[in-house]
Amino acid sequence: MSTVQRYPGATWRPIPEASTQATIVPVIVILHTIVGSAAGAISVMHSDRSETEAHLVGPFRGPLVQLMPLDRRADCNWKVNAWVTPIDLQLEDGVVVPAGTVCGAISIETEDDGTPEDTPWNANQVDQLVRFLAWARRELHIPLVRCPDPFLPGVGYHSMPGMNRLKVWEPTAVPPYGSFVDGQGRTVNIYNPWTNTVGKSCPAAARIAQFDGIVAAARALAEPAPPPIEIPDPPTRPEEDDNMGIIVTNAEPLPAGVIPNDPTGQLKGSAMFLLLDDGRLRHIRRPIEWVSRGGKPGIPWPTDEIVAAGVVT
Ligand SMILES: [Zn+2]
Repeated sequence: MSTVQRYPGATWRPIPEASTQATIVPVIVILHTIVGSAAGAISVMHSDRSETEAHLVGPFRGPLVQLMPLDRRADCNWKVNAWVTPIDLQLEDGVVVPAGTVCGAISIETEDDGTPEDTPWNANQVDQLVRFLAWARRELHIPLVRCPDPFLPGVGYHSMPGMNRLKVWEPTAVPPYGSFVDGQGRTVNIYNPWTNTVGKSCPAAARIAQFDGIVAAARALAEPAPPPIEIPDPPTRPEEDDNMGIIVTNAEPLPAGVIPNDPTGQLKGSAMFLLLDDGRLRHIRRPIEWVSRGGKPGIPWPTDEIVAAGVVT
């Protein structure tokens, strides 16, 4: 399966790993926050100072910056940087990624001011994320839904599957993805296979609160425009009928005896009316409305029953 490598909406600034990392078929998109500036993160990833990298970085201003081809693994997401799917994966448009394929997650880091807890993605970042996700849906066939499982296609944010916890806190709990021993010799229960960190909260509350709206907006953008609404022509009166081309729809008759000059004062403002020969007065909302007898559409009121028509001012 060939994959589009470059997102056309991004500035291309490949890092050294762009040509050395193993290839993947991307089936997941995971959103992150940097806890710092885009420029700083890009600079670190361009150097040898980092063992992690993202495919894309979303700055406060300007387009996304792409650092890695989308079909190369980028190491931001631990066990879903690359994995061999044991089952067929269903993407959109009927695309199936067969069991045995090396899959991966596209990672997008995003700029913040160092305190992402109270720093939502700004309007530009939201726009850039929405556009990328819509493109990923169309070109990579990635479903724009929350990943139903950490190893199933969709979209997520880094801490979405949960938080890893030290085993000592839950001695009897059975972690869903096993355990590992971290650098401090502690046993960590894995609830989130997208990170090997304990207590990871990325991209933090303010941005997590925006997540579903961004995915929904991307879904709307990716969908083809709905067909135009067909507005049927209004019923036309028969040619042989000399009725007025005026219809009162949904008009309530006023009490009999009310006359056009409105001695009762019941008509206010610039109400339009027809006075019928049985003494009833009917409002007209607009002069172009069909008159419909008895409220039935398409049955014109005979002209000869209309005594007068006018506007009360
Ligand atoms: Zn993250």
